[in-house]
Amino acid sequence: MKEEDVEIAIKVVVVGNGAVGKSSMIQRYCKGIFTNDYKKTIGVDFLERQIEVDCEDVRLMLWDTAGQEEFDAITKAYYRGAQACVLVFSTVDRDSFKAVESWKSKVENECGTIHMALVQNKIDLVDEALVTREEADDLAKRLRLRFYRTSVKEDCNVSDVFQYLARKYIDQL
Ligand code: GDP
Repeated sequence: MKEEDVEIAIKVVVVGNGAVGKSSMIQRYCKGIFTNDYKKTIGVDFLERQIEVDCEDVRLMLWDTAGQEEFDAITKAYYRGAQACVLVFSTVDRDSFKAVESWKSKVENECGTIHMALVQNKIDLVDEALVTREEADDLAKRLRLRFYRTSVKEDCNVSDVFQYLARKYIDQL
């Protein structure tokens, strides 16, 4: 096979507490849609999107979790072979912010050291914000994570997150 025929595919897991916007983020990025209807994800599934990084075609497979962490078999399938991770919390949910570190540990336990980014989602909800930019920034520094602030609703900064992870992955090849 010639080198240009080799496809680069990256499995990305999107993790964080329920309702922080994980499914919405994946739908937004892969399908270009946003809905306010809260619909719990059933089972494990992924959507994909092809992008270009440094003239390389990269296929991103974004895995969504149903939060059915009690089912070990599902958890294992979800994390298996993941090369990158998005740690998401919501700016209007302090518990989701406090849970970031344990999500990071969980991913590291399952996947080892993989590329990660920290995302503060729902930044459009300015008046209801319960997590400041500064404290989120401090957490990112402490955990040595690239930090993004997104609004999936307003399609703000979402693609930057995935572009960053894809680039980090390519750079280490
Ligand atoms: P998940 O459980 O983490 O997958 O969260 P969902 O993607 O189901 O989102 C939970 C709720 O938050 C839904 O009602 C979404 O429409 C809403 N949501 C997601 N992202 C945003 C955002 O950036 N801004 C606002 N205002 N709502 C959002």
